[in-house]
Amino acid sequence: MQIVSTIAGLRRILSEWRAQQLRIGFVPTMGNLHDGHLRLMSVAKGDADRVIASIFVNPTQFGVGEDFSAYPRTEQDDQQKLMAIGVDLLFMPEVIEMYLANRHTIISVNALANIHCGLSRPGHFDGVATVVNKFFNIVQPDVAFFGQKDYQQLLVIETMVRDLNIPVDIKSVPIVREIDGLAMSSRNGYLSVEERKCAPMLYQALSRAKDEIMWGNQNFEIIENDAKELLKNNGFLPDYFTICNGENLQPAQIGQHDLVILAAAKLGRTRLIDNIHFISKKQ
Ligand code: AMP
Repeated sequence: MQIVSTIAGLRRILSEWRAQQLRIGFVPTMGNLHDGHLRLMSVAKGDADRVIASIFVNPTQFGVGEDFSAYPRTEQDDQQKLMAIGVDLLFMPEVIEMYLANRHTIISVNALANIHCGLSRPGHFDGVATVVNKFFNIVQPDVAFFGQKDYQQLLVIETMVRDLNIPVDIKSVPIVREIDGLAMSSRNGYLSVEERKCAPMLYQALSRAKDEIMWGNQNFEIIENDAKELLKNNGFLPDYFTICNGENLQPAQIGQHDLVILAAAKLGRTRLIDNIHFISKKQ
């Protein structure tokens, strides 16, 4: 596996691959890799001739008081995992390689930037959209892979790609979970032993809410409130638990069937997010 930290170095390798007409797959990450990330890598390997992973803890998607400096950085370990899975190239730029001091451009996917996670994390999705856009311009992949774990982020990126005619295929990969249902996340490492025991309740609350809807309950507000109550009773501080239209993340309307339930809740100091996307009625 080649490891490159400069844009110029990356482009030299990429131009050779392009001259050979190889299909290039790209998987952006912030590192501290777990099996969720590695699933993206293996899906990418099955799809593309060459796979590029990036590790970049992007400062512009962290708000004031968030965990940018504390975010786990485990580069040696990550490199071993990527090598073992057969990633061809790892791009690990420093912040100064990615961001000029006098930069002025921000990409904002307006309809999605200020709801759900965007409400509690102002500017977060602008940071995500901008850095992914930059990566797409730097790497120019044929195809890029994103996890459904970050459902709102996935829609932000799909919308940006569509709106700006970016010539990249976006493929989404289902959520990888621990055996007890907890969605894998780099932030799970912040949980204390006690909190880790409670954490799967977030997925259980989502699954119960989904079951209610599948059984025909369309009183979404009651389902949401019951779930928030359940979470509170299990030590969580819910941020939101909301049943949405799976295409645009607006509140679900009765009769809509492409649904996603999005949830974010704090357990101690750790903010966990998860979701379930499903079709509520056989078409
Ligand atoms: P991150 O390093 O958290 O920015 O995540 C990098 C990519 O991995 C994003 O596309 C995430 O959605 C994806 N990802 C993170 N956790 C999981 C998971 N448990 N299952 C599937 N994809 C994931």
